Amino acid sequence: MDYEFLVKYYEKLESTSSKLKKSEILSELFQKTPTELLPRVVLLVQGIVFPKFMQLELGIATQMMIRAIARTTGFEQKRVEENFKKTGDLGLTAEELARKRRQSTLAKRKLTVDYVFDSLQKLPTVTGEGSQDKKLNLISELISSAKPEEARYIVRTALGEMRTGTAEGIIRDAIANAFLLTGKESKEKKSEILNSVDYVYNMVSDFGEVAKLAKEKGMEGLSRVKIKLGKPIQVMLGLAAEKIEDIVKEFGTVAIEVKYDGMRAQIHKEGNKFWVFTRRLEDVTKQFPDVVEFCKKSLKAHECIVEGEVLAINKKTGEPMPFQNLSQRIQRKYDIEKMVHEIPVQVNLFDAIYLDGKLLVDQKFVERRKILEKIVKPIPEKFRLAKEIVSDDVKEIDKFYKNALKEKQEGIMMKVLDSPYTFGRHVGGWYKIKPIMEDLDLVVISATWGEGARSKWLTSYELACRNPNTGKFLSCGNMSTGLTEEEYKTMTDTLKKIIEQEKGKTVFVRPKVVIEVAYQEIQKSPHYDSGFGLRFPRFVRIRNDKGPDEADTISRVKNLYESQGRAG
Ligand code: AMP
Repeated sequence: MDYEFLVKYYEKLESTSSKLKKSEILSELFQKTPTELLPRVVLLVQGIVFPKFMQLELGIATQMMIRAIARTTGFEQKRVEENFKKTGDLGLTAEELARKRRQSTLAKRKLTVDYVFDSLQKLPTVTGEGSQDKKLNLISELISSAKPEEARYIVRTALGEMRTGTAEGIIRDAIANAFLLTGKESKEKKSEILNSVDYVYNMVSDFGEVAKLAKEKGMEGLSRVKIKLGKPIQVMLGLAAEKIEDIVKEFGTVAIEVKYDGMRAQIHKEGNKFWVFTRRLEDVTKQFPDVVEFCKKSLKAHECIVEGEVLAINKKTGEPMPFQNLSQRIQRKYDIEKMVHEIPVQVNLFDAIYLDGKLLVDQKFVERRKILEKIVKPIPEKFRLAKEIVSDDVKEIDKFYKNALKEKQEGIMMKVLDSPYTFGRHVGGWYKIKPIMEDLDLVVISATWGEGARSKWLTSYELACRNPNTGKFLSCGNMSTGLTEEEYKTMTDTLKKIIEQEKGKTVFVRPKVVIEVAYQEIQKSPHYDSGFGLRFPRFVRIRNDKGPDEADTISRVKNLYESQGRAG
């Protein structure tokens, strides 16, 4: 398949923001794609060339791309940078400059999907001395063979910024539409089919593989997909909750566990074979031979999958150490035995999801915990069950929470007793309570008039961080709490003076006013231009002392997100 053919679909995807349309476009593309190419095309439309769990970075930095564009278009680097300032997107810059290209390329080859895919896949394998030059050559070769519109998408894929808005849900719908749905199904049947696609994705963690299976084997094939020990499955995560009371009010008695500040470990056992995977499904078995030893001694099942949190322990004091210490263990590829002695670890187990041929995900949390207790013979201080209480007493839970913080852990997880194990992203069933994070200074870009008695005030504010490269402000949250009446008034008076445009109850203002914002956590969010959203943002104060050019940047938001998200 020619890359140009795929590019036509990228362009179509980019021209609509409708999720339904996007999934129709993709569905047509998937149907037209030859089966053997399907796994690659499904990855490429997500803007990647490796399944996400492989965590392989292509390693192309902005500066390197600027050099590659300059080299292949014959323009000076400065000119490329200027254009980039204007577009804010090196893909568009590459396209625009390629149209004006000064250098005619001699041997132009027609790019195929396979060729582009293979070249991009080579990038992370280029390491060591001279690797920067080699990468630059690889990427330059691609761009110079590309037509202008092809260059746009090659550049974006290499930078990991596709901008075609193909979230996982859209890919799932497109696969189902292309190969499994006839359009005549009842609503129930349709949702059953979509759920099956989700379910299989959670098992194999690669939509490329799911698409191929759906095309070749249909529903029948999908329903036969089973957990394969040694292949990680998507982990369940918690939703952020603001207050302990809220959860108790909603669910009554719940299980409360320490939320440990370490690395999520999904441990697979198959007879004498063991694997340890991180939350991002990376295989770290080699880095943790000590964990494998614990498992050998302690796991009393022939086959199982259990989950827990690995903590680094201070050799001298026996106390848990911050995540940074553990991350040395995760990244280490040599001298592993030495590291095992220097930074010993402790595993705190909290779930069992598979036991001797049986998937336990549909069982209640309490049942799974019981199974876990049965199959784990704890090794004191090394391999043990997560600390847990079962309670509906807010005071008791609060004491447990304070204690967890005193022990330098992140907070608590409140788990609904009869909740199943739900694969994938943050869903209900587990609720995390953590202290508020470091404040951010953000710019107000729009605001909305209040209701009823507050209709004379602007009471809800859209916040944005700064992109220092383009000077643009990117939204990252909506804040409406934490202000006194006086503060609402001040905000309203200040913002009224800088209104640029009004639309219904919303006013768009010049990005001038900086405010300090507290929040509980940062999440990835497609709703905001920055791609990140603040959970529970609260007003702290107006920063009259700061101009918008001093507001926090998108990279700070990203760093904070990563520091809380953990490498594990
Ligand atoms: P977060 O990273 O804030 O979304 O929280 C989810 C992470 O908390 C999981 O991936 C685990 O690594 C970690 N965690 C720590 N202790 C627990 C626990 N007792 N139960 C579930 N997850 C836990």
